[in-house]
This record gives sequence, C-alpha cells and structure tokens, in this order.
Amino acid sequence: MDQLVLSFAQRAARGESIPVQERLKVPAQPMPVQDPESRIHTMSEVALGYSEQEARLESLRCLGCPTAPCVAHCPVAVDIPRFIAQIQRARYREALQIITQTNALPAICGRVCPQEKQCQCACTVGIALKDPAHAVGIGRLERFVADWEREHPEAVPEQRAPCEKSEKTSGKKVAVIGSGPAGLTVAADCARAGHAVTVFEALPYPGGVLQYGIPEFRLPKQIVDAELERLRTYGVVIKTDTLIGRTFTVAELQRTFDALFIGTGAGLPQFLNIAGEDLVGVCSANEYLTRVNLMKAGRGGDTPLFYSKVVTVIGGGNVAMDAARVARRLRADVHIIYRRTRAEMPARAEEIAHAEEEGITIHFLRTPLQIIGTDHGRVSGLQLQRLRLGAADSSGRRSPVPESGQTDFFACDTVIVALGNHPNPLLARTVSALNTDSRGAIIVDQDQVTSIPFVFAGGDSVHGAATVILAMGEGRKAAAAITQRFAASP
Ligand SMILES: Cc1cc2nc3c(=O)[nH]c(=O)nc-3n(C[C@H](O)[C@H](O)[C@H](O)COP(=O)(O)OP(=O)(O)OC[C@H]3O[C@@H](n4cnc5c(N)ncnc54)[C@H](O)[C@@H]3O)c2cc1C
Repeated sequence: MDQLVLSFAQRAARGESIPVQERLKVPAQPMPVQDPESRIHTMSEVALGYSEQEARLESLRCLGCPTAPCVAHCPVAVDIPRFIAQIQRARYREALQIITQTNALPAICGRVCPQEKQCQCACTVGIALKDPAHAVGIGRLERFVADWEREHPEAVPEQRAPCEKSEKTSGKKVAVIGSGPAGLTVAADCARAGHAVTVFEALPYPGGVLQYGIPEFRLPKQIVDAELERLRTYGVVIKTDTLIGRTFTVAELQRTFDALFIGTGAGLPQFLNIAGEDLVGVCSANEYLTRVNLMKAGRGGDTPLFYSKVVTVIGGGNVAMDAARVARRLRADVHIIYRRTRAEMPARAEEIAHAEEEGITIHFLRTPLQIIGTDHGRVSGLQLQRLRLGAADSSGRRSPVPESGQTDFFACDTVIVALGNHPNPLLARTVSALNTDSRGAIIVDQDQVTSIPFVFAGGDSVHGAATVILAMGEGRKAAAAITQRFAASP
C-alpha cells in the first residue's frame, strides 16, 4: 500500500499523468469501523475515519473528470475533483478551503450526507467499474480533510484559516430563526457577505437535528460544536433558549433586522392513530432521541428513561434506524417493524447494515393494528397485520396491502414511532401573513422568499423532513437572494 501511494505521488510530482486504467486498479478503501460486539456498549462513533494513507489511496482513484458529474449531483456544488486533487498532493488545508467555499459544515456532511444517492451515484469510477459501491468515497474524503484540520491546529496559521471573517460590512442585519443546517448555512454565507447575523434557537444548544436527533455514534457532538465554533469566527451571534413566536415575535424581529430567515425544521412527529397509542411506553422517535442525545438520559442526564427489555420501532427511515440503534446501546432487544420490503426502505443502506450487525431484527411487511397494554396502562405488545406488496402508488413504490386474516401478537414493553415529521407549526401560527400549505410547510418562491417581503425560509420547514444537504442548499440560495436584495435596495 505504502509503495503504491509513494509511486503515484512520485510520478505526480514529476508531472507524469497517471493513466485511467492504472487509477481504476487502486483498490477502494473501506471505512474502518468499530466492531459490532464492542460498539453496542458505547455511544462512541462507529465509523473511525480514514488514516492519511487510506485517504491518499482513495483520492488516487478520482479521475478528475473535466465534466465533474459529481458536482452537479451535490446540492451545494462542492468542487469535488479540485478538493480531491489537493488530497492527492497531501495538501489537506487547501482541500478544506475548496470545500468550505460552498459548504460551511464539511465534517458533518462528510458523516451524514447520503452521498450514495448524490455525488457518488454520478461518479465515473463507480460507473466504469459497474458497481456503485466502488465509486470514489467522496464523503469519506470530505470527512478526512475536515477532521485533519481540526486535529492539526498547528498546520493552520491563524486560529481558523479556511474561511475568514468578512472584512467588509454591509450595514445590514439578518435574523436567522432556527440553528439547524439551513439556518447555520444562511448565517455563514450572510456573515461572509458582510451582514451582521444573529441566530435565534429555541433549545439550549444550537445545531437542530444535528444536535438533538442524530446520535453521538453517527455524529459526535464535539464535531457539531467545532463546526459551530468555525461559524462564530465569521462573527455570527447565536442566542439559545429563545423561542421566536413566544420570547420575541416575528414583528419585533422585523423592527430590528433588515431580513429574516426561517429555518425552524420539521419537528412535529406523525403517529399511527391506532388504539393504544396513549399507553405508557409509546413515544415518538423525536422524543426518545432528544431525551438521550440532548438531555443525556441513560447517561446521568436530567431526564428519566425506562430501561426497556424489548423495544419495537415502527418505520424504515434513518430516524427509525437511529432510534433502534440507541435502544440497542441502552441494552434492549430491538425489533424494527416496516410495512414494505428491504428494497423500499428509505434509510441509508449503510445504516441498515450497521443496525443488523448490531443484532437488531427487521420484520418486513408488517404494520401495527393496535398497541396492547397491561392492566396498569403499560405497553405489553403489538398486534401486527401481515402485508404483501400490491400495485405501485403515485411515488412509484409498491403499496403494502393486508393479507386477510393474517395477524400476529408481538410482545414488547416499548414502542417507538418513527413515521416522519411535519414542519414545526408554532411560528407560522403566530404570523397570519405567512402562507403555508395543508401540512404547515412554509410556501416560498424560487429564491426562498415567503409571502412576506424580506422574510425567507428553507430546509425542513419548507419541504418537510428531508436531508442536511438539501437544507444547506436552500440556505445558500436564501443567503444569495438576501444579499442580492440588499444590493438592489441599499
Ligand atoms: C434522527 C434523525 C436522523 C437523521 N439523519 C439524517 C442523515 O443521516 N442524513 C441527512 O442528510 N439527514 C438526516 N436527517 C434529516 C436532517 O437532519 C434534516 O433534514 C435537517 O436537519 C433539516 O435542517 P433544518 O435546518 O431545516 O431543521 P432542523 O435541523 O430541524 O433545525 C431547526 C431548528 O429550529 C429550532 N426552532 C424551531 N422552531 C423555533 C422557533 N420558533 N424559534 C427558534 N428556534 C426554533 C429547532 O429547535 C431546531 O434547532 C435526520 C433527521 C432525524 C430527525
């Protein structure tokens, strides 16, 4: 391995171009992970990250395609071939500078973005090798350079070099409501454009779902904190424990700020609406994950947690996987109930594989008919309906239909419902001029402008629960539109 990197590096240094056929022979570097037996006893991160050697080797697999199809599939258009070319030359700080020109949260995106459905699905190497799993590990390389910069402060001349605070000031003030990836991206881009930015966050810690939803073993909170620190160096002020719509109204903010961005996310959980959902032992995945992640339940935190013996999680997305894997780490026997088959599961393939390695069982083609309780009002089990796949629905996915008369009882003491979330309704309800759709999602135009001039919105509050990078992409669009409008009406 050493020899391979060395010979490529020497040849590159001599200005020799390395033929595609040779590059395609470099083996794809797997992500090193903690072994399942030990990781289920800890909340520490499962994926360990590339070593420098692994990152160099993986970077050598990139062909540097001039057409860069990967960039077109990145919602924030990171210049992927250019940053990877810097890794090939061991210039990691320069690689990070390229990424942070368009992505304010690289260590986070490198960990949680569904790259296999975005940049990596367009990678020429994966296509040439006829195996998407052999696409260049773009997310892993992004994570590597962001981690490298954090772990090598001595290599960075000033405290935080990659994106310095703007020298110019526009004299304009921007209020950002919500500190999830959408809000943080708007804050970063507006601050870099010279606007004075204040972020208002309802919870005690900033970061949105990054802080209270995605568990420590997928996204360590020290990574979120470090990215937030980078943002503060741009001059962004973050005010926590401030619920807009209660602590301050939108009208009050409009009197002080020249533009507002609403990035309040989608934190309103959906339930099954079946008998027994009011029993003790039933909760939403949001509540469960917030208690464990934010309030440290089960780890000396200030909120109680029932130590379940058998947990069932209803749903098949990332949120369901996260809740199930947290429950496993709290020593429960965990079962996921999903109404379609493995092929239709919306969770990332990697998360499903990790969950199964950790001993979590997935029961396909089942849905709860009712939740059964003890005489004391506690969950004792689920009555499950067996299903089969019928015709495709409007989304193109085959719909589950009941197998007549086929039901089972499944004993458990906890049911976690992970069926998706709708936008947080509170703020919109306090502003009658803000147009929303039937699900409470804020309606915006192509520039993320709401029905109120100089009030912008983006992320999950606009389109419902989606992804970090989509929220960031809309944040970038909103920030550009804010700056453009300020320029047009100085
Ligand atoms: C458990 C879980 C796992 C996930 N895993 C992934 C993943 O692996 N990869 C991925 O790409 N996406 C994942 N997602 C989705 C992703 O996290 C979201 O799409 C993304 O965080 C949305 O960003 P946002 O900024 O719109 O909102 P959020 O991250 O929800 O942030 C909104 C913020 O606004 C605050 N807020 C709300 N109302 C107010 C108010 N009135 N005043 C002040 N503050 C307010 C909230 O407290 C919150 O901090 C996951 C989501 C969950 C729940």
